[in-house]
Amino acid sequence: MTRPPLVGAALWNAVMKRAGDRCECRGACGKKHSAPGQRTQGRCDLENGKHISKRGEVVLIAMPRDPVNEGDFVTAASLPARRLAAMCPDCYDAVCRKIARAIKQLPPQDDELFAADEFRVDPASKKQADVGAA
Ligand SMILES: [Zn+2]
Ligand SMILES: [Zn+2]
Repeated sequence: MTRPPLVGAALWNAVMKRAGDRCECRGACGKKHSAPGQRTQGRCDLENGKHISKRGEVVLIAMPRDPVNEGDFVTAASLPARRLAAMCPDCYDAVCRKIARAIKQLPPQDDELFAADEFRVDPASKKQADVGAA
């Protein structure tokens, strides 16, 4: 049988049952997934157990719906099934690549330790003006 990746078997089964054993990607990976001749956004049609030539059987991955904040293994394994999505390996990989690119493009995070706002004196602040007027 198919091996449940990323999360535990019970959780994986719950996610797959809800998804109908079909990849839930509706364009997150960047593909249209539309039916031939259609231009609207479709849903990826890869299903658990579907055989792809040269690649073998599809095993969907239970992936956090918020992969940026909940994408690590520990967090994903503790999420309820409704916060996970069934993704085929292709869509999963593409989404992961998109996230990796997006994270690289983010400006460096402010480090709380070095936030000096509370020590900064604004010369135009009301406090200063009051002091001057007294
Ligand atoms: Zn897919
Ligand atoms: Zn996709």
